[in-house]
Amino acid sequence: MTGVLLLGGTGEALTIARRLSPEHVYSLAGLGRTPGDLVCRVRVGGFGGVEGLAAFIKAESVGLIVDATHPFAAQMSRHAAAASAMTSVPCWALRRAPWQPGPDDDWRSAFDFASIMAAIAPYKHPFWTLGREPLDHLDEIPSGQHWTIRCLDPHVGHARATIIAARGPFSLDGERALFDQQDTDVLISKNSGGAATEAKLAVARERGLPVVMLQRPSLPQVEREFTDMASLLNALDALRKAP
Ligand code: NAP
Repeated sequence: MTGVLLLGGTGEALTIARRLSPEHVYSLAGLGRTPGDLVCRVRVGGFGGVEGLAAFIKAESVGLIVDATHPFAAQMSRHAAAASAMTSVPCWALRRAPWQPGPDDDWRSAFDFASIMAAIAPYKHPFWTLGREPLDHLDEIPSGQHWTIRCLDPHVGHARATIIAARGPFSLDGERALFDQQDTDVLISKNSGGAATEAKLAVARERGLPVVMLQRPSLPQVEREFTDMASLLNALDALRKAP
């Protein structure tokens, strides 16, 4: 198999990267931790847009792009598909299924920050689990609200926000304790899918709390799409064994 360029940023991508040999490259944006114990090559940081990515693919003789980025990292996915078209190097993508509401869930759809702000207006203690975006809006916290913001980045703090730097997976009991401690009355989440950050939805459900759910961005078509990691790993194995 010619070299794989694995675009990461998820737990699944790291699991795949652990199975790659030294001729393959694992690429990270640099937002989270960079593992130091991989056999494959690891590169960190942007490529400089589609042209930069296409140039990297050619220079490194990449034979397959595997997009295992977060479902909300839509720009990177679009760049991967565009660079694939430019270079004629195929692109596969791992796209985990979105979460679906059950009969006991009270989910409200949001499509952008403004619609989230409108949806949480009646509540006092919103719990934000979107990543760092709410940190850019600390000066817009309505009077009468105190925000809990959980994201990867440590932050100095704010008089009307509790900022928690933490990385999943999160346990059910841990999430229950955090909801209690922060007196959470509404949860804000991206529809990321997957098990690692799902416990917060169970806590909202058992307490009858609303969830403002940010819908996924649209993602480009690619040669092959996988919804689970096992199928993608099997396909990579088949490619490796192919004559
Ligand atoms: P993005 O908007 O799709 O990407 C922005 C730029 O970051 C890309 O154009 C690319 O820069 C660089 N980039 C992203 N992923 C990369 C990778 N695997 N290797 C090399 N460069 C990469 O994604 P984002 O800004 O990272 O995040 C958007 C949303 O996804 C946020 O809501 C974030 O919380 C969520 N998310 C992202 C990650 C992650 O690791 N990226 C993980 C979890 C959640 P160039 O154009 O210069 O190539």
